[in-house]
Amino acid sequence: MNTIQIEDKNFELMIESDPIKKRILLLAIQIGVDYEDKCPIFIGVLNGSFLFIGDLMKDITIGCEIEFVKVSSYEGDQSTGNVKQLIGLPKNIKGRDIILVEDIVDTGKTLNFLIQVIEKEQPKSINICTLLHKPNATVTSVPVLKYVGFEIPNDFVVGYGLDYKGLGRNIQGIYRAIGKTE
Ligand code: 5GP
Repeated sequence: MNTIQIEDKNFELMIESDPIKKRILLLAIQIGVDYEDKCPIFIGVLNGSFLFIGDLMKDITIGCEIEFVKVSSYEGDQSTGNVKQLIGLPKNIKGRDIILVEDIVDTGKTLNFLIQVIEKEQPKSINICTLLHKPNATVTSVPVLKYVGFEIPNDFVVGYGLDYKGLGRNIQGIYRAIGKTE
């Protein structure tokens, strides 16, 4: 289906599920090469990254640990940048190689907040793996995004983990809002 409706908003297909899976396999191969014998800790940022990290892990063959954190920073379809809380940071970060797995880097504020908190735990290294990046929306200076699935324009997107008003996370492809987002 090329267009879908969620609540009051219409969306059109932007990235089909097949290219997403193929891109994820390439990311997994690249990470596997970079982190062989390092036993990294993947930290998935919930809720948006749940499908991405699930599929990514199916393609990761090196030894690793997987953890999740949750940040509340976003309502409706505009990033408030108003990060309130971080839940679930693992205790064993000190001296470890961390790969932070995000659904999307938009303004970059969530990412910067997360990195600040994680750095306090003295990891050996932190790299970012994000399915989507909106370079034109990124207002804060973010660290190098080492693993990026797709760079996309400044559209509001849903599907493959991303929601609109809590809906649409289970949609297989990625869809962009048609018309202007308020
Ligand atoms: P940032 O702090 O980079 O502005 O935003 C990060 C968070 O905002 C993402 O993890 C995601 O939850 C949410 N977000 C940013 N852009 C979009 C978008 O286009 N669609 C959806 N559904 N969420 C978004």
